[in-house]
Amino acid sequence: MKKIIVQKFGGTSVADTDKIKNVARLVIREKELGNDVVVVVSAMGHTTDHLVKLAHDINPNPSARELDMLMSTGECVSMSLLTMAIQACGYKAISYNAAQIGIITENVHTKARIIDIKTDKLRESLDEGNIIIIAGFQSVTEDGEITTLGRGGSDTSAVAIASALNAERCDIYTDVEGVYTTDPRIVPNASKLDEISYEEMLELAHAGANVLHPRSVETAKHSAVPLRVRSSFKCEDMGTLILGVEKMEINKPVAGVAVDLSQVRVVVCDIPDTPGEAATLFSSLAKENISVDMIIQSYARKVSNTNDIAFTINKEDLDKTKSILDVVVKDLGAKEVSFDENIAKISIIGAGMIDRPGIASTMFRTLAENNINIRMISTSEIKISCLIDKENSQNAIKSLHEVFNLGCDTIADVKGTLPDV
Ligand code: ASP
Ligand code: MG
Repeated sequence: MKKIIVQKFGGTSVADTDKIKNVARLVIREKELGNDVVVVVSAMGHTTDHLVKLAHDINPNPSARELDMLMSTGECVSMSLLTMAIQACGYKAISYNAAQIGIITENVHTKARIIDIKTDKLRESLDEGNIIIIAGFQSVTEDGEITTLGRGGSDTSAVAIASALNAERCDIYTDVEGVYTTDPRIVPNASKLDEISYEEMLELAHAGANVLHPRSVETAKHSAVPLRVRSSFKCEDMGTLILGVEKMEINKPVAGVAVDLSQVRVVVCDIPDTPGEAATLFSSLAKENISVDMIIQSYARKVSNTNDIAFTINKEDLDKTKSILDVVVKDLGAKEVSFDENIAKISIIGAGMIDRPGIASTMFRTLAENNINIRMISTSEIKISCLIDKENSQNAIKSLHEVFNLGCDTIADVKGTLPDV
C-alpha cells in the first residue's frame, strides 16, 4: 500500500492564483514521490477576517450558526481553485467539503470539536488515483448542521484527517520556516528548532506562539502522527519536525519563550471563604464554553473570612464573561470584580526543565533585574508562565531568550505573519 501524506496550506500560501499554482506544484511533487496525497486548505489570505467583518457590519451580534454558515464558505473557494490548478497540470484531483466526507463534530458553533471522520470516500478516491483536496476549518454535526473548528482550525482538520487515514506524516505548509525559539521579529537571532516534542509544542501553542492551532498538536500527540511545519515558499527547507518526547535527545532546559497578548486578567474580590464558591464561579463560565487559563486564589483573610480569586480569560470572551459575572458575583456575595487588558503572559517552555532545579528562579531573577513586576505565576511540568504588564513584554522576551541561551549566530530571515507585539 502507498504511504499517505497529508499536506496543509494556510491562508498566505493560497492568497492569490499565482500562490495557488505554486501550491499545486508542491502537491504534485509529493505525488511524484510515489505517495498518496491528501491536501487540506485554509481560506485565501484574509478571507475569513473579511467575512467576519461583513457579518458584524450587518449585525453587531451575529448568531453563531449563521457565522459558521458564512465563514465556512472561504475554504470552499480555495479548495476548488487548487483542485482546478492541479487538474490544469494534467493530474487527477477531486475536492470535498466537510459534509461530503463526514467530518463530524459535536453540536457547538464556532469552536466545535471533531468526534469522527469517515474515511470510505477518501480511500475510494485515492484508490482511483486522485489527489484529494479538502476544505479545512469546516465540519458538520450528526444532523448535518455546518460547524467550524475555531479560528486557525484548518491545522486541526489536517491532523485529524492524517490520524483517521493513518498517514505517514502531516506537513503543515505556512509562511514561516518552522518553529522558532521565540518570535524572530522581537529577537532577530531566534533559532529555528529542527525538532520539538508534542508536549513542548502544545505548551508553546497555548502560550501564544501562533504557528499551530493548539488542538492540532493535541490531536497529533494523541495519535502520534509526526507533524512537520515548513515553508510554502522555501520548500527545500525541512522546517521543524514535531514528534514524541521519547524520540528526542533533550539537552537544553528551555526550548522556547512565548508571549500571549490575548488574555485579560479578571479579579473577583472578597468572596466568602466557604466550600463551593470557586465551583460556582468557574462552572458559570464553563457552561458558556469560556476557557480559563491561569488561576490564583489568595489565602483566606481571617478577619473578613473572604478571599480573592484572580484568573485569566481570552479577550474574545470578555463581553460574555462580564455579563455572566454581573450575575454570579452578586450570587456569591463577592464585593467587586475588575478586568485588566493591559497584560502579557510570558512563558518559558522545555521538557528539559523536568527535575532540573533553578529554572523558575532564573526566570524570576531575570525579570526582576529588568525591573519587571510579576502579577501572576503558573507552572506545569514543562512550562513556567508569568503575567506581566504589556509594555514590558518585549524586554522580558529578549532577556529570557538570552539568559537561557537560545539564540544562534545568524539573523533569522522572516517574512511571516506572526502575532503583533
Ligand atoms: N480560515 C480559518 C481562519 O482564518 C481557518 C484557518 O485558517 O485555519 O481562522
Ligand atoms: Mg492558520
